[in-house]
Amino acid sequence: MVPTGSSDNVFAYAPAPESRAIVDLQPSYGLFIDGAFVDGNGTPFKSINPATEETLAEVAEADERDVETAVKAARRAHTRVWSRMPGSERAKYLYRIARIIQERARELAVLESLDNGKPFRETRDIDVPVVAAHFFYYAGWADKLHYAGLGTSPRPLGVAAQVIPWNFPLLMLAWKVAPALAAGNTVVLKPAETTPLTALLFAEICQQADLPAGVVNIITGAGATGEALVGHPGVDKVAFTGSTAVGKAIARTVAGTDKRVTLELGGKAANIVFDDAPVDQAVEGIVDGIFFNQGHVCCAGSRLLVQESVADEVLAKLKRRVETLRVGDPLDKNTDVGAINSAEQLARIHELSASGEAEGAERWSPACDLPSTGFWFAPTIFTNVSLAHRIAREEIFGPVLSVLTFRTPSEAVEKANNTPYGLSAGVWTDKGSRILSMANQLKAGVVWANTFNKFDPTSPFGGFKESGYGREGGRHGLAAYLAADEQDGER
Ligand code: NAD
Repeated sequence: MVPTGSSDNVFAYAPAPESRAIVDLQPSYGLFIDGAFVDGNGTPFKSINPATEETLAEVAEADERDVETAVKAARRAHTRVWSRMPGSERAKYLYRIARIIQERARELAVLESLDNGKPFRETRDIDVPVVAAHFFYYAGWADKLHYAGLGTSPRPLGVAAQVIPWNFPLLMLAWKVAPALAAGNTVVLKPAETTPLTALLFAEICQQADLPAGVVNIITGAGATGEALVGHPGVDKVAFTGSTAVGKAIARTVAGTDKRVTLELGGKAANIVFDDAPVDQAVEGIVDGIFFNQGHVCCAGSRLLVQESVADEVLAKLKRRVETLRVGDPLDKNTDVGAINSAEQLARIHELSASGEAEGAERWSPACDLPSTGFWFAPTIFTNVSLAHRIAREEIFGPVLSVLTFRTPSEAVEKANNTPYGLSAGVWTDKGSRILSMANQLKAGVVWANTFNKFDPTSPFGGFKESGYGREGGRHGLAAYLAADEQDGER
């Protein structure tokens, strides 16, 4: 089931599967509204394991009536309980949630791998610890909102409608729920239809933490449910992470209302390697930039820009490294690249990769035995890519790297910025001055220097251009859920 890897791999790894026994899956799940699980009025749908196509559970679908009930519950909880509670008390709930996440970390990590297809090693070592860190971080803010830069007594906005994607189900939930709650808002969150299960486990954690009913509501469903939620007149704030197409539709829906909006959308990041970069480290950063989480990462380094003088060396080392990546069972602790999240996403990756070949780019993948059931795509590198190719312009959202070259720093900046997106970028060089100069010129919300895909709750994250607007994380992420007190005015 696992990849062949390079022929000079003398030692094979023994299978090291994590047990799934820790996860107590119910055959079906309701909606989490007003502190309890209730039936939905829509048509239930299945959530499957993308690595095996096995049905994991049936999940309720929220229709407009359910959205109404959830928004009303959130409003009641906001008016009667949550907005009145001192910040220091709200903080206790957030700390409690963070501690329970740590206590149930293995359960959350296994369930996230099962429902999403991402390697357990990543859910265990990255997703879940960073989720807990977000709740700890924003717990610390809950009684210090007057330092958020919005005057002496900033107000919560009210009810937040939050819609999230499938690539980091629990982490995107944490990015949304933790700052909203710290700031005194209540939430109605809709997870993606292919990965609802960890959000529903999070609902159980809210119950375990004795969070007052209605402060967090989780409704499941697909696009229609999300549309009903963001369009509901009882919502004060819309926070969306997902595709640029849906982000644009949401922007149109809320135009003309007084709803506050943050949109975290797609990306097509340039990972730029200069000839003075430490090549071995850069190769690790390139691999991490595009093959982490199967490339299902909005800020993935999907375009490698490498200086012409070192292109051959970098590519040779990169291919050797990619040959060692292990594709397969997400629950195996040796797995580097797991399953593609859905048949639809796999079809999109195939379609865009075929367009790369048709447009004249050169395609390469290591020898790799893919499992016969489930959704899989071998790590892929395209060379001879031109800026006009679709694979250089469109977000593939899969383990596919497009390689371009440059000669001068200004050409690198020109090519990196030649995209409708502006979410992230990476710079690999020995020179601190060049890092600062490049960071100043790159139109990207995040610029990593000699590293890639690093996340921290204290650091704001967000995009320019078609990557969206608003910031999540850090003090900026908190400000997105607060209004300045009228007497103070915005500062
Ligand atoms: P998507 O836009 O198809 O779906 C995202 C969410 O929106 C899902 O919950 C979906 O059910 C819901 N939705 C769909 N149509 C809707 C509508 N009309 N109104 C309201 N909600 C609707 O995106 P996806 O395929 O789930 O996720 C992948 C995308 O997310 C990529 O483009 C990726 O770059 C982006 N993303 C961005 C960030 C970021 O922080 N910028 C982070 C993760 C993912």
